[in-house]
Amino acid sequence: MFESRDKFKREFKEKLRKERGKAIDNASYLDLYKTLGRMVREEINDNWVATNSQMADKDKTQVHYISMEFLMGRMLKQNLLSIGALDTCQESFKELGIDFDKVVQKEPDPGLGNGGLGRLAADFLDSLSALSIPAVGHCLRFKYGLFDQKIVNGYQVELPGNWLREGNIWEIRRGDHAHEIKFGGRVTSSHQNGKLTFHHEDYESILAVPYDIPIIGYKNQVVNTLRLWNTEPAVQDFYFKPIDGNSCHQVLNYKKSIESISEFLYPDDSHEEGKVLRLKQQYFLVSATLQSILDNYKLKQKSIHELPQEVSVHINDTHPVLAIPELMRILMDEEGLDWDTAFDLTKRTISFTNHTTLPEALESWPEETIKCLLPRIHMIVHELNERFCQSLWDKYPGDWNRIENMAILAHGRVKMAHLALAGSHTVNGVAALHTKLLKEKLFKNFYEYMPEKFQNKTNGITHRRWLMLSNPKIADTVTDYIGTNWITEPKELEALEKHQDDVGLQEQLVKIRHENKQDLAEIIKKENGLTVDPNSIFDVQVKRFHAYKRQLMNALHILKIYNQIKENPNTLFYPRTFIFSGKAAPGYHYAKKIIKLINSIAELVNNDPQVNDQLKIVYLENYRVALAEKIIPASDVNQQISTASKEASGTGNMKFMMNGSIIVGTNDGANIDIREAVGDDNIFVFGLESEEVLQYYHHGEYSPFEIYENDLKIKRILDQLVSDFLPGEENFRDIYDSLLLGNDEYFVLKDLTSLEEAQQKVSQAYQDRSKWFKKAIVNIANSGRFSSDYTIKSYADKIWQATPLKTMTVNQADSSQMPAGEYSGNTY
Ligand SMILES: *Cc1c(COP(=O)(O)O)cnc(C)c1O
Repeated sequence: MFESRDKFKREFKEKLRKERGKAIDNASYLDLYKTLGRMVREEINDNWVATNSQMADKDKTQVHYISMEFLMGRMLKQNLLSIGALDTCQESFKELGIDFDKVVQKEPDPGLGNGGLGRLAADFLDSLSALSIPAVGHCLRFKYGLFDQKIVNGYQVELPGNWLREGNIWEIRRGDHAHEIKFGGRVTSSHQNGKLTFHHEDYESILAVPYDIPIIGYKNQVVNTLRLWNTEPAVQDFYFKPIDGNSCHQVLNYKKSIESISEFLYPDDSHEEGKVLRLKQQYFLVSATLQSILDNYKLKQKSIHELPQEVSVHINDTHPVLAIPELMRILMDEEGLDWDTAFDLTKRTISFTNHTTLPEALESWPEETIKCLLPRIHMIVHELNERFCQSLWDKYPGDWNRIENMAILAHGRVKMAHLALAGSHTVNGVAALHTKLLKEKLFKNFYEYMPEKFQNKTNGITHRRWLMLSNPKIADTVTDYIGTNWITEPKELEALEKHQDDVGLQEQLVKIRHENKQDLAEIIKKENGLTVDPNSIFDVQVKRFHAYKRQLMNALHILKIYNQIKENPNTLFYPRTFIFSGKAAPGYHYAKKIIKLINSIAELVNNDPQVNDQLKIVYLENYRVALAEKIIPASDVNQQISTASKEASGTGNMKFMMNGSIIVGTNDGANIDIREAVGDDNIFVFGLESEEVLQYYHHGEYSPFEIYENDLKIKRILDQLVSDFLPGEENFRDIYDSLLLGNDEYFVLKDLTSLEEAQQKVSQAYQDRSKWFKKAIVNIANSGRFSSDYTIKSYADKIWQATPLKTMTVNQADSSQMPAGEYSGNTY
């Protein structure tokens, strides 16, 4: 279909007519998008079937990546790139007079994730397919993904993220692969053939129906699957005895209560969320996933004892940790294995990634809730805890403190991370410092007890989306200089380093950056009605809003610059455009207040003609993958300024470096790995070290009040927060209080001056354009090692024992057949 432009154009027109009843001149962009998507789907179907059948082969380890979040981004362009048809389509559309970008923009950006954790899962799927490793991602088919953010009067307002409104062209509903999930009820036991067996009774039954989405490998004919589980009532035509004469209403309520399980993604990515519905979602996901894995495994006709060799189940953070007791349940209650065998197989099958350094972000659930909702799972967790504590006792007899601290069940709560550590074969941190902190702080006792379980896997990003697709001009320029090897072996980008002094390359990058900045300036004009100068430094901080990420520090620094220019209008300040974007969890009032503060400072600065040539502040609403793809290629510097020790890894930092944007950052998360890769000349590092932060917490000798008293400039900006200095009615007393009375938990005032110094160096350095773009080249050249392809290779070798599929050769002749299942891109 995509072999030549002529063939493509012919078939596209025919498909448009047949499927949508339209010709090009009267087709909408939605028609065009759906038609093109449909063609891609047909093109890859045979490969999808072939991948699935190879996966079903004996002796092939399948990877199952379970995650409550997959922040996929739009898929059309990525899929076209993967099948090698992007150029053909773009050129053909040009010839047909169709604006390709407008077609692409018709695809909703599915918000099935909050931020880094969900995007990591998406990058991992892309790499798994690119590396031909047979894999399935499992998630829920949230009807509403993450909320859409609007900024109204400077405040965040949340709207439902209704990504399925127009149907989803990539998914296939597989009603014949549904599974029953049981909630509530009670468990009884009896002796059968001399064996104690358990029976779950009076439960509520809910159906899990999978919707499969193809994950297309880069030019390798591999098509893996993202499986999204949807809730449905288990019985379609059920009958309620009319108690109050309104059974229809009861039926609808019942249906609604069931559908609510896969209705919303919880919009919070680092705080404990104690809602029963969230727990239901977690169990629903892992139960459906494991049942489907075991069903498929049985088709292999292998002994259940070989499960760990054939299947690797990975849980992304603790949200899917009930996979451990659920697999135990299936192996014991359904497969008839004894406890020890079931535990051994479970432990050897499951591995786990931890994503936080913050103790307060570790999940735990009231034992009572689990007992009511999942009585059999509760029994198993209880027994797991007993046995785990017994083994701790054997090793540390009498050390009650240690055992209490490590227990799975303590003080009426189930500690999900402890369950994960006890019931898996490997746990990994996501950057060098993070893994170190896990071993020395957060899970110190566990590390001492089971050091062999701990590994580091520094996060990665897919260079296909974050460079080839989002910044094609840079990608092409790189290829002009070093050839195409880097595309399949991204470490080869290092070959660019020897061109760092090449004036031609530097100038090429200057030109491309300027064009990207012009593109972003247009978006800013359209979205915010604001004119920004592409010749100013574009200084970007885009990420979820969280106190530890310190958008506040960035904002206070801007206020400081503003004061300085006002006080001394002759200040030579290199023009800068500060760009913010990001969402705050709806219940996180402090983070929302910071959003409002930034918008208030923006209103002040952007409307003050005296500073206007030098300073602009932009807040772009509704941060999401599609927006990240526009902002990152247009950025000169990016701020990765979390309080040292707080950011597990960060992946935004990697995307920016890959696009040649220079990091202003703390010694935290993967900034440290990046610093090591590029060297001190090519990154601006500042601020407290993690050891210092931890020391301060330990000894409690930090006094922000002293800074306030002694530094007049800092005193001034803080006082401005609580006077009527800023426009609007809002008062920022709570921020002021958190810094002074709350003792500035995240060391904003402590690091503010060193941020300022680092930023002064940036302003200096930027003025020597040749030197600046030399830094950019070094960053791009060393970004290859942060490709998620390497992260996944390491997971596959060191954790999953998974190997690539053999190269696939598929007859492409008849690819119009759809695989079994109902096509649900429904609006055809
Ligand atoms: C990469 C990415 C993130 C993670 O950003 P960090 O700076 O690492 O927190 C969050 N949201 C989106 C949309 C992303 O693409």
